[in-house]
Amino acid sequence: MLSKIAAALQLNLPFFDAPPAVKLGERSAWLDGRPVTYQLRRSKRKTIGFVIDEKGLTVTIPRWLTLKELETALQDKARWINLKLIEWQRFQELQLQSAIRWEHGGEIRFMGEALRLRLDPSVQGVQRQGHELAVGLQHKASTEQIRDRVHGWLQAQAKTHFAQRIDHYATLLGRAPTRWGLSSARTRWGSCGADGAVRLNWRLIHHQPDLIDYVIAHELAHLKELNHGPRFWKTVEQLFPAYQQARGRLREIREPSETLS
Ligand SMILES: [Zn+2]
Repeated sequence: MLSKIAAALQLNLPFFDAPPAVKLGERSAWLDGRPVTYQLRRSKRKTIGFVIDEKGLTVTIPRWLTLKELETALQDKARWINLKLIEWQRFQELQLQSAIRWEHGGEIRFMGEALRLRLDPSVQGVQRQGHELAVGLQHKASTEQIRDRVHGWLQAQAKTHFAQRIDHYATLLGRAPTRWGLSSARTRWGSCGADGAVRLNWRLIHHQPDLIDYVIAHELAHLKELNHGPRFWKTVEQLFPAYQQARGRLREIREPSETLS
């Protein structure tokens, strides 16, 4: 009897004790007054990682981390985590609201304005008529058919409009891109290569003319300064004086997820 207790006690001596395994997978914690569910994963790195995206919060921890250390790290980051989770939630709600219904009566955005889709088989191709976009299709056309037609129209508009604005800023700058084209990158609005080739995301055509101008001025300024240093921003300012405001607004639009290069 006594020896059994002694054996049990001995097993509890810290030296022999393996660190309690932190259970991976879905876990929850109380952070800054809010219950938060998260995914816990192991990582080979030596630091704790926090990622917040459409799946929520994912925490990656090094192998040796104890439950107590994990808890401390979570509490340290509690405010940031909650802030970012709320931001994501808002963004997802916004995206849901702005999801386009590809059907008769659906709405698209064109240079910052709302255009209502009108399916009308008597129309040739796609035609803008005031606040409507008339699409030459039957009412029973499929989502894909409607989307392809409208995307085609938007891309054609983008090509014409961007070409005019490139001309305008190239004249101001005294330099023109060697070539330019539309892109449909998910992560950038525009880019400018060392060879002077400019790419502009056709989805910019959804947004206000001044945002489009800012992106074009930004990319063209790279023809002089292929960096984001003070001289670069000075050049942008000469082309597009209200650039700071446009830059801020562009950052609020999350599709494509960021940015310019
Ligand atoms: Zn840039």
